[in-house]
Amino acid sequence: LIDLKNITKAFDGTVVLDDLNLSVKENTFVTLLGPSGCGKTTTLRIIGGFERPDQGTVIFDGQEITSLPPNKRQLNTVFQKYALFTHMSIAENIAFGLKIKNKPKTYIQDKIKYALKLVNLDGFENRTVDSLSGGQQQRIAIARAIVNEPRVLLLDEPLGALDLKLRQDMQYELIRLKNELGITFIYVTHDQEEALTMSDTIVVMNQGYIQQMGSPENIYNEPENAFVADFIGESN
Ligand code: ATP
Repeated sequence: LIDLKNITKAFDGTVVLDDLNLSVKENTFVTLLGPSGCGKTTTLRIIGGFERPDQGTVIFDGQEITSLPPNKRQLNTVFQKYALFTHMSIAENIAFGLKIKNKPKTYIQDKIKYALKLVNLDGFENRTVDSLSGGQQQRIAIARAIVNEPRVLLLDEPLGALDLKLRQDMQYELIRLKNELGITFIYVTHDQEEALTMSDTIVVMNQGYIQQMGSPENIYNEPENAFVADFIGESN
C-alpha cells in the first residue's frame, strides 16, 4: 500500500534518514521501533506529508504522493500530544474534520456515535475535554481520526503519556480497532514490549537505517545483528 523509495532527509546538514526503503502492506500493523533520535518520527512525518524528503519518493497505492499535502492523503495522524480543542465539546472535536468537508448533519451525528462506541466512550458527546482523563482524551483523538475513514492511521507514540495499566488497555484496544476497521496502522514507539505485543511487522531502526524488518517472532528469535539483539533484549 505504501512504499518509501530511497528516502534521504537531513536537518542542518545532519543526515537523519539515509536511503531508506520501506514497504507497508495493506491491513497490517507496522511498528517503527528504535532508540530516541533514530528517525522514526521523521519517517512517519514523511509518510503523513508533514515533511518533504530531500531525495526519494513516497508511493501510495501505486501513485507518487511525495509532494501531496497531508489533507490530500488517504491517511490520518494521531500524535502523542493529542491537541484536542479544549473550548469545544467532545462531539464538536470529533465532528471538526467532517464539518470542514461539509458532510450532512445526520451523517456527522451517526459518525460521532459510531466512533465513540468504537473507542468505548458511548454517551460522551457533551462532555468537555478537561473533564476527561489522559487515556480518554487519547481515545477521542483516535475517534476523531477514525471518522474520516482513513485507509491508514499513523500513530506517533500515542500511549507515551499514559500510565502502565492504561497503556496496556489501550494496546489491546488499538489491536481490536485495527481488526475491526481493517485499516493499516503505522505506529511509532521506542518501547520494545509494546512493539512485540502489538505488531504484525516490526521495523527496527537505528541512526537513520533500517536494521531489520520482520514479524515479532522473527525479530525476537532471530535478530540479524548485535544492535537488534541488544535493543530487543533490553527491557524498559
Ligand atoms: P524520538 O523517539 O526521540 O522522537 P525519533 O526516532 O522519532 O526520536 P526523529 O524525531 O525522527 O527521531 O529525529 C531524528 C533526528 O532528527 C534527531 O536527531 C532530531 O533532533 C532531528 N530532527 C528531527 N526533526 C528536526 C527538525 N525539524 N529540525 C532539526 N532537526 C530535527
